[in-house]
Amino acid sequence: MSDSFSSLGLAEPLKRAVAEMGYEQMTPIQAQAIPVVLTGRDVMGAAQTGTGKTAAFSLPLLQRLLKHENSSTSPARHPVRALVLLPTRELADQVAQQVKLYAKHTNLRSTVVFGGMDMKPQTAELKKGVEVLVATPGRLLDHIEAKNAVLNQVEYVVLDEADRMLDIGFLPDLQRILSYLPKQRTTLLFSATFSPEIKRLANSYLHDPTTIEVSRPNATASTVEQHFFSVGDDDKRRAVRQLVRQRGISQAFVFVNSKLGCARLARSLERDGLKAVAMHGDKSQDERLKALAAFKAGEVDLLVATDVAARGLDIKDVPAVFNFDVPFNPEDYVHRIGRTGRAGASGLAITLVSPGDGRLVADLEKLLKKKLEIEPIEFEEDRPRGRINDGRRTWRDRGELGDDRDVMERSRERERSERPPRREAYAAAPAAPKDPFFEQPYEAPAEGAAPAWETAKKEPVSRVSSNIKTKRKVAALFKTPQ
Ligand code: AMP
Repeated sequence: MSDSFSSLGLAEPLKRAVAEMGYEQMTPIQAQAIPVVLTGRDVMGAAQTGTGKTAAFSLPLLQRLLKHENSSTSPARHPVRALVLLPTRELADQVAQQVKLYAKHTNLRSTVVFGGMDMKPQTAELKKGVEVLVATPGRLLDHIEAKNAVLNQVEYVVLDEADRMLDIGFLPDLQRILSYLPKQRTTLLFSATFSPEIKRLANSYLHDPTTIEVSRPNATASTVEQHFFSVGDDDKRRAVRQLVRQRGISQAFVFVNSKLGCARLARSLERDGLKAVAMHGDKSQDERLKALAAFKAGEVDLLVATDVAARGLDIKDVPAVFNFDVPFNPEDYVHRIGRTGRAGASGLAITLVSPGDGRLVADLEKLLKKKLEIEPIEFEEDRPRGRINDGRRTWRDRGELGDDRDVMERSRERERSERPPRREAYAAAPAAPKDPFFEQPYEAPAEGAAPAWETAKKEPVSRVSSNIKTKRKVAALFKTPQ
C-alpha cells in the first residue's frame, strides 16, 4: 500500500487542502483508515491524539459528503450530514479547526459547539446550516433540545476519544444523541484503549466494523528518560521543587489524580515560588484557554493537570513530565509520558511513588512488562526560588488563592478523583484479561529515527485556537520540527 496521499484518489479540493497543510505521506492510521472509510464501512480504530487521526476520518468523510456540496444560501440545503463527538472543549475546538482547513476549498460547511461558551453564536451558526458538526455531548444535547440542531439526516458519526467520553460519564448522553440519528449510517469509533465498556459500546452501535490499530506514536523508553522516586506524600512538593532546580527543567506538566489535588497543588507550588497553573475539569473554558496560552507562551513553568483535562491539550513537546500521583490506570502513564520526548528530543518523566502506591506500581509494571527501579530521593537544603515576587507573575488564578484546607480534606481528596479508580475494582477480582494491544512493550523507533510522516517537511501549522490570544511568540519547543 502506498503511503502517499496521491494514491487515494481524493477530489481536487481535498488534495489541494492536504498539499497546503504540507502533508506528503499518510500517517499509519491514515493509510489504514482512509481507504476503509471511503468504502462507507464502520471503523473501530485504536489510535491516540497525535497520530494524525483527525485527517484519517475527516478527509474520507468530506470526500463522501462532496456529493451533497452546494452553494445555496438556504439552510435547508445544508443539513448536518456528519457528526463528530469529542470529550473536551479543547479537543472539539482543535478537531473543528482541522476540519475547516481540510474543507476550505469545498462548499461544505462545518462548525463546532461545546459548553462553557455562550450558546447564541453557536445557535446562529447551526441555523445557517452545516454539513459537519463537531461537538461535545452535553452542549450538543442542549442544542438538540432547543431545536437548533436537527440530526435526522446524519450519515456519519465519529465517536472520537471514546474511552475518555466514557470516563467523563458521557455514556448516557452518547446513547441519547445516537437515538436521534438515522439507523442507516456509518459509525467510526476511535479510542486509545479498548476496555470492556468500549467494546460494549462498539458492539451496540457499530455494524461489522473494520478494526484498525496503530502502534503508539512515540513515548518510548529510548527517548524518554523515566525515573521513579520513592517519596512520602508530604515531601512530594519538595521533591518537585528540587528536581526542577537540579535538572534545570524549564517547563513541565505535573499530573495528579484528582481535581481538588490539582487546584491545591498549583496554589502550593505558586507559594513555593514556581509559576504554576491548574487545569482540570471544573475550570471554565476561558480559564483553560488562558492557562494553555500562558503555558505555551512560556509564562508558566508548571501546568498541573488531571488526565481528563490534559487529554484535550494540544501540547506535546514538553521537556519534562511529573507524575505527582501514580496514575490509577496504567494506560494513563503512557498518555502522560507521551507528552515529552517527542520527535527525537529527549524527554524526562519523573514519577513520585508514595508508600501506599504498591498496587498501582504493580499494575504499571504489568503494562510495561518490566520491574521498575524505585530510587530514593535525597533532599538538599531547600530554598524557595524567589520567582514568585519577581514581577513576572502576569497570569494567576486569583479565584483559588488563600484557600488552605486541612489534612483530613487531603486524604479525602484521593477518594474524590475526577475519575473513579477503575483499578481499585481489580483488587478483589481475578486479573481481568488485558487487551493484547496493551501487552505490547513500547515500540521504539529505529535508532535515532522518527517515523517518516513526522519528519516529512511541512509548513508549520498553527495549532493555537483562534480563541487563544498568545501574548508573545510560542516557545520554541512547540514549533513544528523541521
Ligand atoms: P491528530 O492526531 O489528528 O491530532 O494530528 C496530529 C498532528 O499531526 C496535527 O498537527 C496534524 O496537522 C498533523 N498531521 C496529520 N496528518 C499528517 C500527515 N500526514 N503528515 C504530517 N502531519 C500530519
